[in-house]
Amino acid sequence: MVATTLVTMLCAHLLCFSGMFLLISRRLPGNKMGMDFFAVGNLLLASAYILQLVEGGPAWSVMSVVNHILTLAAPIAFWLGAMRFFGRQVRLWRSLILFSVAYGIAQLLVQWSAGPAARYAMLAAMATMLFFVMTITVIYGVRTFAKDLYGEMVFFALLIGGICVLNALKFMKIVDGGLDALHMDSRFQMIFYIYMSTLATMVPPSIVWLVLRRLTDNLRNIAARDPMTDLLNRRGLLEALQLYFNARNAAPAYLLLMDIDHFKLINDTYGHQAGDDVICHVADLLRSTMRQGDLTGRIGGEEFVAICFETDDRGVMLLAERLRASVESQATKVAGSGHMLHSTVTIGISPHFYGAHGLEDALRQADSALYRGKAAGRNRIALANISHSTSAENTKPAMVHLYPEQG
Ligand code: GH3
Ligand code: MG
Ligand code: MG
Repeated sequence: MVATTLVTMLCAHLLCFSGMFLLISRRLPGNKMGMDFFAVGNLLLASAYILQLVEGGPAWSVMSVVNHILTLAAPIAFWLGAMRFFGRQVRLWRSLILFSVAYGIAQLLVQWSAGPAARYAMLAAMATMLFFVMTITVIYGVRTFAKDLYGEMVFFALLIGGICVLNALKFMKIVDGGLDALHMDSRFQMIFYIYMSTLATMVPPSIVWLVLRRLTDNLRNIAARDPMTDLLNRRGLLEALQLYFNARNAAPAYLLLMDIDHFKLINDTYGHQAGDDVICHVADLLRSTMRQGDLTGRIGGEEFVAICFETDDRGVMLLAERLRASVESQATKVAGSGHMLHSTVTIGISPHFYGAHGLEDALRQADSALYRGKAAGRNRIALANISHSTSAENTKPAMVHLYPEQG
């Protein structure tokens, strides 16, 4: 009676979450993060439990064949949902129907050729293999595709690993003792069903948490990045600086403020779209020139910021020069027209600073250096703490390359 009540409550729980997953998936146009698949997984699991209630002990019946199919189809649906969550394009219904037909036929053959115990042993063996592959993939995910969800993945690996071990034990018990091993009153079956019920209770809210985390991470990312170049915006730079300085105490940072020279002219001559292309091209050069771990951002129309760590005055000058030379030497191909636009940048460098609170001051100092660099002729680098500008082009008059070439 107690067991029946518990399983009934578990079914209600699974059905509620199935409805909730469906509602959430309808609120997520486009990428549903696998929520529709999870809804089906919950429904299949609830149906398997309902059949379990109605069915009673192990027997050869249509209901039992369907129950075995549902018992394996539910984790498969969860598995496919997880693949969707991590961006894989997989089909739910086709996979489930194929599996159901194949496993239905396999059950008939095994029942006919090896008897009922073999059919139950096959279920335990299939579940063991399925959960084993799932556990290994989740552990692999911790190091690769799900690095950002470390804690969650370890939690899932433990949960799924547990059910894998229990199914392996069940398989051995059936092989040893036949269908008697499945007696509902046995200690093993009790532990098995308590674990399964705990798992079925914990997994749906954990999935809701995963989706909530992914959504809030996406929102934070949108708020921290410039949509056109995907570089950090001012807010993103500040947050990343806070993270950096919280993790390491005294390592100084330098800020480079880079502005495209005579950008208005590019807009006026070739149009706003060409201007956008130049901005994106310079953003790509900035990203590829900076070292991994440095920060890159766009804080205005054609103004970029780079923050570099663990370097010195000489290192930051070399980096700025590499950046300046790279923009000067690599023209932008304008989409549609085939024009190659040459542009240059002027870079102001702040003195080194410590702590995220130093950002505004570093920006101000780099800006006044940049202003001096512009006044001195552009296409050059200016340091905030010295009064003159320096450039690889110092001996030449300041140049602005702005002429079309055939691409
Ligand atoms: P200087 O060499 O002194 O920097 O001259 P400049 O012409 O580049 O002058 P300024 O930096 O003031 O020019 C900024 C221009 O950038 C003004 C604005 O029309 C343009 N702009 C701002 N945001 C965007 C954008 O997203 N796309 C495009 N195409 N143009 C933009
Ligand atoms: Mg400019
Ligand atoms: Mg500007």
